[in-house]
Amino acid sequence: MKTTGIMICGAGIVGLTIARELVSRGYKDILIIDKEPEIARHASGRNSGVLHAGIYYAPGSLRAVSCLSGNFKMKEYCREKGLPLLETGKVIVARNESEIPTLLELYDRATANGAKVEIIDEKRLAAIEPNAKTTSKALFSHYTAVVNPRAVMQSLYDDLIESGKVSFMLGTRFITTDGSNTITTDKGKISCGMFINCAGSYSDQVARPFGFGEGYRLIPFKGIYKKLKKEKAHIIKGSIYPVPNLKNPFLGIHFTRSASGDVYLGPTAIPAFGRENYGILSGLDTEAFEIMVRDAILFFKNKKFRSVTFEEPRKYFFKYFFNDAKKLVKELSPEDLESSTKVGIRPQLVDLKRNELVMDFLVKNDTKSVHILNAISPAFTSSMYFAEMIAENYIH
Ligand SMILES: Cc1cc2nc3c(=O)[nH]c(=O)nc-3n(C[C@H](O)[C@H](O)[C@H](O)COP(=O)(O)OP(=O)(O)OC[C@H]3O[C@@H](n4cnc5c(N)ncnc54)[C@H](O)[C@@H]3O)c2cc1C
Repeated sequence: MKTTGIMICGAGIVGLTIARELVSRGYKDILIIDKEPEIARHASGRNSGVLHAGIYYAPGSLRAVSCLSGNFKMKEYCREKGLPLLETGKVIVARNESEIPTLLELYDRATANGAKVEIIDEKRLAAIEPNAKTTSKALFSHYTAVVNPRAVMQSLYDDLIESGKVSFMLGTRFITTDGSNTITTDKGKISCGMFINCAGSYSDQVARPFGFGEGYRLIPFKGIYKKLKKEKAHIIKGSIYPVPNLKNPFLGIHFTRSASGDVYLGPTAIPAFGRENYGILSGLDTEAFEIMVRDAILFFKNKKFRSVTFEEPRKYFFKYFFNDAKKLVKELSPEDLESSTKVGIRPQLVDLKRNELVMDFLVKNDTKSVHILNAISPAFTSSMYFAEMIAENYIH
């Protein structure tokens, strides 16, 4: 039987950055498996690439603690490696007076989290982002930036291979374990000293045979994007976000100038019926029915979830998607938008006992395994610092 010191399940950003951190601490004999034939097939290769700046998250939460430090570390990494990095900052605009108190709360949260933010007036907003529209005040975040997530993932992969301490078995699916860290995969059994579960949207399922993850279930939300036509991309300089509803985990449709110069609008957060249900029917399996039941229970028992499911599905229709985007800018017409093939799934952990969406990263562990159960946004931004926290606190 094949053996390894540390086995990481999942070649997304969480898996790769944890491996990188372990290598920097002198660990070797690390094996990363992924069911896909290549890295970054899922959330880590399909996100907006925004390096968030610690604005939204409740002070003291894991997301708050890791976001800004992760942002700085990833910027440093991109500079060192010559990877695309757009440091435009971002503005958050108020669509009406009633959003001003939340805007001010975001300012307080951001300041408590160490972010560099300013409340700005309409004149200053026009100087930063001429096409953005707000009601009297907006928030400007200096540290927000944009990277090319796939370029970051490829570079991390190359570093890990080059280190000689990490090997990959791509196209290898975790199936189960026997309780003594003998892992059954579809390519045979592998024995490991420590197992680290970074399986993204399947992390609850992977955790279960280790005795973790009971009482939690990940449910998928689909993020669809549209794009500004090339000739219209100049109307957005950086990123424009709405004031979000702080009670739900999604930020609302926003504009993001990507590292390639394309301007994306989105993503939506529409309940999906499969953990990899990227198209209408693709990625649907026997779990679809169970997900529907879970969605229905949440719909009746959870006000936050109900508001998401009322608001979001209509964004499948162009009119609603466009209307949401139009509220953030002075100039935009339906003809300026084109469809985009970019689509991602955001898995969101639900606490089944409380019928609550879990709003922070969640880590469970014992002496032989560690499980990252809710690597929701901004896990891409946070990853390099979060990896340090995992190595420091859970791997001995
Ligand atoms: C549309 C969208 C927009 C986002 N925007 C941002 C943003 O702008 N900024 C930001 O910071 N974050 C953003 N996020 C969040 C961020 O992308 C994720 O939090 C992060 O990528 C999660 O990384 P991960 O490694 O946990 O998961 P993944 O990237 O999904 O990786 C998990 C891996 O595990 C593998 N796997 C699963 N099951 C098994 C199994 N049984 N056996 C073997 N392998 C398995 C999968 O194939 C996958 O490769 C966004 C997410 C989405 C979807």
